[in-house]
Amino acid sequence: FPHPPADAAVGRTADGEFSTYAGCKWFRQLPLSQKTKDGLKPKYVEMSDIQRASLPHSLCGRDVLGAAKTGSGKTLAFIIPVIEKLYRLRWGVHDGVGSIIISPTKELAGQLFQELRTVGKHHTLSAGLLIGGRKDVETEKERVNSMNILICTPGRLLQHMDETPNFDCSQLQVLVLDEADRILDAGFRKELDAIISQLPKKRQTLLFSATQTKSVKDLARLSLKDPEYISVHAES
Ligand code: ADP
Ligand code: MG
Repeated sequence: FPHPPADAAVGRTADGEFSTYAGCKWFRQLPLSQKTKDGLKPKYVEMSDIQRASLPHSLCGRDVLGAAKTGSGKTLAFIIPVIEKLYRLRWGVHDGVGSIIISPTKELAGQLFQELRTVGKHHTLSAGLLIGGRKDVETEKERVNSMNILICTPGRLLQHMDETPNFDCSQLQVLVLDEADRILDAGFRKELDAIISQLPKKRQTLLFSATQTKSVKDLARLSLKDPEYISVHAES
């Protein structure tokens, strides 16, 4: 009986292991780095429903399309797997851009950045906020290649892809689209297609939004591999 490949050991064939985490209620029960566990405390102790449902999948590298209403804690559902993936790969400053997180608005991108700073404060990963309207685009261009995690609006990311010399996302490990349905509604679809066409195909992709609309599924078809569809509805 052949052994499963090394990748599969932490993925689909590890159903026994996966089900261990599927029943988890607390962050401390997950196989997270101590640095992340320390970053979550004291604010984050018990997982929200979308976090409980998605983290066991996303942490073992699967693509996820997650839907849960606003305020349900979707941010941590992608920030944690991004940090853990790069930490496990011992990602450092010379490895460049390891993850891109796309948000529909500057304001939301700013909030994601703050959350990343909080939860990732014990890690040495670098992060940059690339949003339109900031004046220091030239400084940004010099620094962007030394950032490990980019949080950006579609327009600004595309601007760097087009204008920044040596902008390199060839080592990208995880792509996140937050508020994926809004990104499509806002007419970002063309920009997104242009962005996605410049990203390596071998990567993990996480899509989160408030609703699982058809258009999100269209997007998923473009960029996700055999994704887990996770939909959490409030029951009360
Ligand atoms: P969404 O993106 O689904 O709208 P957010 O990620 O912005 O939700 O989270 C909404 C609020 O819930 C934030 O203030 C966040 O700090 C808080 N929150 C998220 N997860 C947890 C958790 N596991 N325990 C306590 N508070 C949480
Ligand atoms: Mg959100």
